[in-house]
Amino acid sequence: EESAKFVGAADSDFAQEGRRRVCQEAFRAVRQQLGRIYLPLINGEYVQTDTVIDSVNPSQVSEVVGKVGLVSVAQAEEAMEAAKAAFPGWRNTPVKQRADILRKAADLMEQRRAELSAWIVLEVGKPVKEADAEVSEAIDFCRYYAAEMERLDQGVVYDLAGETNRYIYQPRGIVVVISPWNFPLAIACGMTVAALVAGNCTLLKPAETSSVITAKLTEILVAAGIPKGVFQYVPGKGSQVGAYLVNHADTHVIAFTGSQEVGCRIYSEASILKPGQRHMKRVIAEMGGKNAIIVDESADLDQAVAGVVQSAFGYSGQKCSACSRVIVLQPIYETFVQRLVEATKSLNVGEAELPSTQVGPVIDGNAQGRIREYIEQGKQEAKLALELPSPSQGYFVGPVIFSDVPANAIIAQQEIFGPVLAIIPVADFQTALAVANGTNYALTGGLYSRTPSHIQQAQNEFEVGNLYINRNITGAIVARQPFGGFKLSGVGSKAGGPDYLLQFLEPRTITENI
Ligand code: GLU
Repeated sequence: EESAKFVGAADSDFAQEGRRRVCQEAFRAVRQQLGRIYLPLINGEYVQTDTVIDSVNPSQVSEVVGKVGLVSVAQAEEAMEAAKAAFPGWRNTPVKQRADILRKAADLMEQRRAELSAWIVLEVGKPVKEADAEVSEAIDFCRYYAAEMERLDQGVVYDLAGETNRYIYQPRGIVVVISPWNFPLAIACGMTVAALVAGNCTLLKPAETSSVITAKLTEILVAAGIPKGVFQYVPGKGSQVGAYLVNHADTHVIAFTGSQEVGCRIYSEASILKPGQRHMKRVIAEMGGKNAIIVDESADLDQAVAGVVQSAFGYSGQKCSACSRVIVLQPIYETFVQRLVEATKSLNVGEAELPSTQVGPVIDGNAQGRIREYIEQGKQEAKLALELPSPSQGYFVGPVIFSDVPANAIIAQQEIFGPVLAIIPVADFQTALAVANGTNYALTGGLYSRTPSHIQQAQNEFEVGNLYINRNITGAIVARQPFGGFKLSGVGSKAGGPDYLLQFLEPRTITENI
């Protein structure tokens, strides 16, 4: 009931000339700050590091967005010690006070909305409108989890005559957050503030390619009043610092969003008891997807084509919610393919910063190479229906559509995380559902249909965490579409939903005979 009342932050209205001007000014201001250095925050101090890396603009790789100091393992250990020292004070800080820090952070992000989205655009190549929506999501996570923690803090009362019974929640301890580059502000912020508001001390290790934006999040949390040691920013190599913190005996919770490979490794490493460790670690892992949209013969094709284009090519397909398979019923197959190809041809591929851009670059050279290999693979397995050209100076991959793709083809089974879409023809609706469910993943899925029995059947049988009917399948909104999957898409409960904070808390029952 609480969450039903939640009102999210409004995205910018770029139809207003004033808003467009604010946005342009933000880009000008941010461009003057490019190339600055960002340092880790350990025990309330920004500390020097031996290693510094460049974070570059994927739209224009010669442009260094910022330099980022990476912590050593010894510095990660210092951060852990500081977190442990800060924990008793933080766990005893009233929930209202913790929640107010999140609300203050949300207000600061709202004030810095245009600037933050400019950093997102430049550091990870996300088009402006989507970057702006991401700032809204980060703000929503702060305000929603603040309210959620206040709700949970009331606990449950099971009193009887002569006996009080109180069900209460306490923090778990130290949380390590390992955040992805694809929602560099929103997801890093969501996992971090959830851990913090629940009373845990938190270490944030971002994906290297998005360390500047997480440095901005750090500035905001500090300005909002987070005490020293309670939150620490520890950019570093995943294979070194990330692994060290995951394996640390004093880590209680690991909140991770990223690839299935890394998620599975974290899950297994976290299960091993270390000398001196007196608890079992909890892992929350949001991993991949191979998300399908089913289009049946009763679908509104205009709607379906628009929804598939947006779901497949928004942020170049680099969302775990993205559509990478469209499963189309035979009677409308040829028409649908033709119309989808036409609609995709009209997309503007270019630098993320340009207002006309609909598809920007991919994150880095590795991603570009991997996606291109999948495109070559697809050419062996299926029919190339469209390959859009792309600019050459950045890490671009133009949208690609394959048709007549067999359901078990590699490009129909493995997560590509790029603008590559497989269209799979099927004879009937039952087969469509079987094909949709025929992968290791269960994250998002969609159905375009005007047949009530199909809609009902999809609700019962389509195995996904987030099912969208007659709309696009990305862009879940906090406290409206709590987000997350099952099968090999992840473990843990939905971000932006009523069960999320429970994962960062330990429930206790206290009975008193009176
Ligand atoms: N929550 C995002 C969405 O609904 C996807 C998050 C992700 O890619 O990790 O589109």
